[in-house]
Amino acid sequence: MNPSRRDFIRKACLSGGAILLAGCKNGNVTAPAGENSWQPAYAKLEDEGAFEARVEEAYGLLEHCELCPRRCGVDRTAGKRGFCRAPASVVAHSHQPHFGEELPLVGRRGSGTIFFSHCNLRCVFCQNWPIAHEGRGRTASDNRLASMMLELQRMGCHNINFVTPTHYMPNILNATRKALHRGLRIPLCYNTGGYERVEMIRMLDGVVDIYLPDLKYMDGREADRYTVRGAFDYPERAQESIKEMHRQVGELVTDDRGIALRGLMIRHLVMPNRIAGTRAFVEWVAENLPGTTYVNIMSQYRVEHRAFEYPRIARGITVGEFLEAMEWAEEAGLENLDKRSLAQRDVFLRRGG
Ligand code: SF4
Repeated sequence: MNPSRRDFIRKACLSGGAILLAGCKNGNVTAPAGENSWQPAYAKLEDEGAFEARVEEAYGLLEHCELCPRRCGVDRTAGKRGFCRAPASVVAHSHQPHFGEELPLVGRRGSGTIFFSHCNLRCVFCQNWPIAHEGRGRTASDNRLASMMLELQRMGCHNINFVTPTHYMPNILNATRKALHRGLRIPLCYNTGGYERVEMIRMLDGVVDIYLPDLKYMDGREADRYTVRGAFDYPERAQESIKEMHRQVGELVTDDRGIALRGLMIRHLVMPNRIAGTRAFVEWVAENLPGTTYVNIMSQYRVEHRAFEYPRIARGITVGEFLEAMEWAEEAGLENLDKRSLAQRDVFLRRGG
């Protein structure tokens, strides 16, 4: 390790304090047994003595950043920036309880979202473009990120939901360990656009409890067309990463209130003119994962950012496009579709489709 890297890691990695853990009640799906048996994955990793080394290894990656499939190779610790434009320190737009996420994440007190600035994918129709494309937000040390996590826990949030985390993975690991030592005990949710390197997802094994990836495109030509500096390999990278996520955490496990503790939840946004490849998406899930995998087929596509410049996506989706997506999902044998999507489908059907 050269001196600059050592110094950077030393500054970043302060630790200490007692580990506080609390159990959760049994789940009603496949929950762990015992009133106090559940603990977050990252607490177990610390108990095994493996977390600190994982943080160091991850931080080393910032010197030649290949955290995502863009593989820019820039030294972010020396102030260089790659495609995502993210510096070596976290830039976060906001942290707050969020009630618009999937119900198992929201519960009664909200999902503790931390919206990170910048993005390694940058879709032309991004709804969060001021944050993701323009990088609006404030720089935060890893200590500050840990404090945000603890604030969300104090507010009663059921999880820490890292939104667009890919380019800050080392910081997240470091901040999580700090927060653990200061009393964090709720699950971590890795809420990603899906453009991931499977090697990096493997580094999250034993840290992340809940994965919430998008699978946005099934055809590389569409991914190429609708992302800045085309991510033509998006389908392959996302699919192999999702399979790894499932290997790590399995299907969704909830407590007896229906609140997520662990597992994989996949999102897929239906787009106009079948751009997202929804039929191929549901068939891929059916062929590669259990039919009981939690899948949210989302209808909230809007013409945002630069979407109006692209004729095929310059309109919202129709009721027919949403209904055919839900029908394909059922035909494929997907049994665990998001309840709000099912309710929305039923409303449309009652109104005559
Ligand atoms: S995280 Fe950013 S700098 Fe690193 S490889 Fe991806 S786009 Fe490039």
